[in-house]
Amino acid sequence: MYHQVGLVRCLSSSRITGHSLSPLARNVSRTCSRSTTSSSSIQRLSRFWIPTVGAERSRDAKDESHELLIRAGYVRQAHAGIFHMLPLGNRVQQKLEALIDKHMESIGAAKVSLSTISSEELWKKTGRFVGHGGELFGFHDRKDAKFLLSPTHEEEITSLVASTVQSYKDLPLRLYQIGRKFRDEARPRQGLLRGREFTMKDLYTFDITEQQARQTYEEVRQAYRALLDELKLPYLVAEADSGNIGGTLSHEYHFVSAKGEDNVISCGSCGYTINDELAITSVDQPDQIPIEHKKDLSRWIGVTKDRNSLVIAWFPTTTQQHSGNDSIRNEVNPNVIKALVPDVDLSVENPLETWDKANPRREETGSRPSSAQIIEINDERLPFSASTFTFLQQKLQPRELLLPSGKFNSIQFQLRPRKNGKSMQLTRTLTGDPCQKCGDGKVTVDRAIEVGHTFHLSTRYSVPLSATFVDSNDVRQTIEMGCHGIGVSRLVGAIASMLSDAKGLNWPAVIAPFSAVVVPANGNEDAAEDVAKKLLSNGIDTVLDDRKKPMGWKLNDADLVGYPLIVVLGRAWKTEGKVEVQCRRLGIKEEIQCGGDVSSALEQRLQNLLMQL
Ligand SMILES: [Zn+2]
Repeated sequence: MYHQVGLVRCLSSSRITGHSLSPLARNVSRTCSRSTTSSSSIQRLSRFWIPTVGAERSRDAKDESHELLIRAGYVRQAHAGIFHMLPLGNRVQQKLEALIDKHMESIGAAKVSLSTISSEELWKKTGRFVGHGGELFGFHDRKDAKFLLSPTHEEEITSLVASTVQSYKDLPLRLYQIGRKFRDEARPRQGLLRGREFTMKDLYTFDITEQQARQTYEEVRQAYRALLDELKLPYLVAEADSGNIGGTLSHEYHFVSAKGEDNVISCGSCGYTINDELAITSVDQPDQIPIEHKKDLSRWIGVTKDRNSLVIAWFPTTTQQHSGNDSIRNEVNPNVIKALVPDVDLSVENPLETWDKANPRREETGSRPSSAQIIEINDERLPFSASTFTFLQQKLQPRELLLPSGKFNSIQFQLRPRKNGKSMQLTRTLTGDPCQKCGDGKVTVDRAIEVGHTFHLSTRYSVPLSATFVDSNDVRQTIEMGCHGIGVSRLVGAIASMLSDAKGLNWPAVIAPFSAVVVPANGNEDAAEDVAKKLLSNGIDTVLDDRKKPMGWKLNDADLVGYPLIVVLGRAWKTEGKVEVQCRRLGIKEEIQCGGDVSSALEQRLQNLLMQL
């Protein structure tokens, strides 16, 4: 295992010109070069466990890439949302972890391995324990002490640092780990993308001042970019909501993918990128959208936390796409509703029923308690003055608001969706909407998979857990913190989904289970072994397919597994001393003359292709 990780580090660091290795990395590097020259270290698929039978088809037909991970022998499901990593999957994950280690070392972070078990008591101190039945996996020991399987480690690490750091001289401190986390998802889905047990890298940073903490935050952002750059896949860095973790500054790192569950909005003009969870589109002068039929007008209904107020928001059902004739179905933007009615409870499934029950009508008059009120919000693109609009809106009012007299409960409040003199669109931002940063650009909305997150936490955890130090003036101060995650197993699933095609999986060279597979035709086995050994000794992570299977089967399997490069010793090898090099991602299939031996031309060509992957 150590050898494999060392090998990756050797390959990946050699690609970075001028990258200075830490003493640890230099040692690993030496181990690596020694082991790669040893002929006994060649990996053979006959001895590498890749089970391809017993893989049940998943019921979710949308999960093609997860299906491929199972069929190709990378993972197997143990329980719903819980997976075993098989040797191929484990090798990809280890390479990814080695890459992460390299970039964490580059910012001076030390690696730890915290316990996966945490206590309810500790989580109660930070106010994050919200009882059972949620996403926390909880259990108790024989003495009935309550524990949980950590979904994240802010509590544990802050408490550890609080007990060890005394003085400003002990800071700054950067600690990270790569380990398993647990979250009892109500609906585990999409394989490794949303499992109940998963592997994450989490880095925690501890600084003396807010200013230094923000400087640390910048360094981490740069390290994240450098790391993602090595995967050579397009990604977005979006301003994000700090959510449950808390804090004041946060960014998300996303891969653009139709399988994603996030929407990321980015401007082609100024580069401003933001998660849809935070976005509000406002304009000076909204363009009117004609409402001629019932289907043109939509309503959204919500209720406030005190159950007294019913919120009815009216908006155009569709928006005409700025380019072309397609119209897109609008959805209400909860950010605008929250901005206008901060007390709104977005978690209620049947808001109208909830409000109706909480504020029952008196039978005779139909009147409701005086505390009950109705708040109406109209999107300013609606044609208020048109009689057709008024007529249609009346028709679409909820029946629950109809009084015995045939009239409706009156609307007590009309809220105009306005802020800073601009009109807020009640619906979510769509591709083609104006950029909120530069004003000139048009935004693009992409489905995306979040693979990383950085947070400036300030003192969110250090205050409740008393993580303090004594400064140079002998005054006790609170530690400034940051936390920064990368979904390791999620990245594996995300990359599988981004790069797979009808033939199988594909991987960036830096994390592929092997960079190249050598596939011999019948009779070329010995020559293939020589080729594989020479490639390996030249730093190309190569595996030999020495299984007793037909050539066609082996080539299909190589496509399914997704080795970046396939080196075939077929008929042309026997007759002309040529090997065939296949690279599906780059659409390359070419013959290279080896003159009966592995020429440097082949090695150079393979190295050159790997640089592009
Ligand atoms: Zn812009």
